[in-house]
Amino acid sequence: MILYNSLGQTKQEFIPHDGNKVNMYTCGPTVYHYAHIGNLRTYIMEDVLEKYLRFAGYDVKRVMNITDVGHLSSDADTGEDKMIAGAKREHKTVLEIAKFYTDAFFSDCEKLNIKRPDVVEPATNCIEEFIHMISVLLEKGYAYIAGGNVYFDTSKLDTYYVFGNMNEDDLAVGVRESVEEDENKRNKTDFVLWFTKSKFDSQELKWESPWGLGYPGWHIECSCISYKHNGEYLDIHCGGIDNAFPHHTNEIAQSESFLGHKWCGYWFHVLHLLDARGKMSKSKGDFLTVSLLEEKGYNPVVYRMFCLQSHYRKPLTFTYESLDNTATAYEKLRKRISAIPDEGEVDSAKAEELIASFKEALDNDLNTSLGLTSLYDVLKADANGATKRYVIGELDKVLSLDLLTAGETQDNGVDDSLTAEVEALIAKRAEARAAKDWATADAIRDKLKEMHVVLLDTKDGVSWSIEK
Ligand code: AMP
Ligand code: ZN
Repeated sequence: MILYNSLGQTKQEFIPHDGNKVNMYTCGPTVYHYAHIGNLRTYIMEDVLEKYLRFAGYDVKRVMNITDVGHLSSDADTGEDKMIAGAKREHKTVLEIAKFYTDAFFSDCEKLNIKRPDVVEPATNCIEEFIHMISVLLEKGYAYIAGGNVYFDTSKLDTYYVFGNMNEDDLAVGVRESVEEDENKRNKTDFVLWFTKSKFDSQELKWESPWGLGYPGWHIECSCISYKHNGEYLDIHCGGIDNAFPHHTNEIAQSESFLGHKWCGYWFHVLHLLDARGKMSKSKGDFLTVSLLEEKGYNPVVYRMFCLQSHYRKPLTFTYESLDNTATAYEKLRKRISAIPDEGEVDSAKAEELIASFKEALDNDLNTSLGLTSLYDVLKADANGATKRYVIGELDKVLSLDLLTAGETQDNGVDDSLTAEVEALIAKRAEARAAKDWATADAIRDKLKEMHVVLLDTKDGVSWSIEK
């Protein structure tokens, strides 16, 4: 497989450190609010990557943290702790907020067919590990104590800006939203490993440490949680592109200084979902969530397909118009799939040939839009029904679009406008029956009969078909 690697900024052949085993790490959500559909774009594309690696035969172990402490509003060491801000907003404790939004996140993931990673670890579970890593960094001379806090000393590194593509604006991120500069830092790019003294007197969660009562910085959690579950060598680290700097840059600084060797081979960054105002972000307030899409009548899986239609390394602009187009395409696709005749036996040579073109697309830096095209090619292929269904089932192990399940779509072999009319009449008939208005109910049944619609009352409701 060829993957674009932010480290080196080129497409590279993916070669895991240890044969067939792939250690994968994903920066999890900061659980102070619902995930917006931009965050979920990143998690959908990471899910496709994980599933494709498994499909290609790798033995994948995927680890994800849950950020429930230490992530400040600037992504650097300034601003308010996001969790405290969330707790204040909702008059709850930080732990209540963390539990609520962690559950909400996984419920959204389930709706989007995003697999739960093999290991999910909240940062607040790993305080001992953070303290250990910070102690080693201090011993090795990569960290210093100033003003009560522990800082990482970036001047000790040969290279700090590892991704190499930072422009001046990106570099300024650490101080961009700062209200005040931290005078304890020896270098502008140094960052906090452990806070004891800070302006956050309101910090609810504090732990004893060799440096006093305090709490960890955000970056150390990912270095430690990855090390705890993935060991010394990580194959792929994932995240949204905004995390490349400073978060991932700082993770590399900490992990490699701690380990004394190169840590992670491949960095997979997903570009942003944009709306009319630019990057979708939680701090902008009115962001889009999966629940909101559901309220508006969309099947969440349609949003997954919307993401798969674009390459992960291109920014993607969300509009309802384009989501509607995807919804129509999705319904048509499912109808075509459910119309595949139930015939023949799987022709494995043909199936392999069809799967090969899907693999070729995904092997080329996870080209999911081309992968979807090969799905349409399966429908058009000169193959029997059993083979087509088998191949679609295989592709859906990666795409996860519920392609073979009937879902709510009831396919009666009629066009959409007739379906809508029949269903509206059925709903009216149900209302009439509930109101014991038998005359109206019977009149509707007669009207449906005229339309050659046959009704069948079952325990799960009414199903219908057109008389042949
Ligand atoms: P957070 O919950 O803020 O820690 O972010 C969770 C994940 O979503 C991270 O990998 C971010 O890089 C990613 N992310 C944040 N905003 C966007 C966006 N607008 N589009 C895509 N990914 C995003
Ligand atoms: Zn992280």
